Amino acid sequence: MEPIMGSMRGCLLLILAGALALNAAEPKTVTIEGKLIVRVGSPAFIETSTHQTIQLDGDAPTRKVLHDERINGMAAQATGHYTSPGKFLVDPQHKRALLVKKDDKLKMVTYWCEVCGIRAYAPGPCVCCQAETELDLRDLDDIR
Ligand SMILES: [Zn+2]
Repeated sequence: MEPIMGSMRGCLLLILAGALALNAAEPKTVTIEGKLIVRVGSPAFIETSTHQTIQLDGDAPTRKVLHDERINGMAAQATGHYTSPGKFLVDPQHKRALLVKKDDKLKMVTYWCEVCGIRAYAPGPCVCCQAETELDLRDLDDIR
């Protein structure tokens, strides 16, 4: 009886330890706020109200937005998780994880081609006419 009980306890401990390890590996989704520091050719940062500077990264379209100097200095909110202290991975763009604030309202960063009436979610030339798209901050309700 004794050895069986002992091995069962060992087994339980292993399961517990496994669950704990899994928990630690699971990134915790948080929302951070601050001022965007965006410069071409350098990583983007968000500076919090407590003057913490956190480096931002994201998926391909988010990265493009994070290299658009037109959003430099804007108040912003980013949802995602820390990959290491001081480094933050923004959730995929379809989750509307990166928002800027204008007139105390949260806005989506979008890009608009006046010529074609086409909206894009990353800066760059229009997919249709190749003209440079304009930064167009939109209310969340406007975009579905
Ligand atoms: Zn166009």
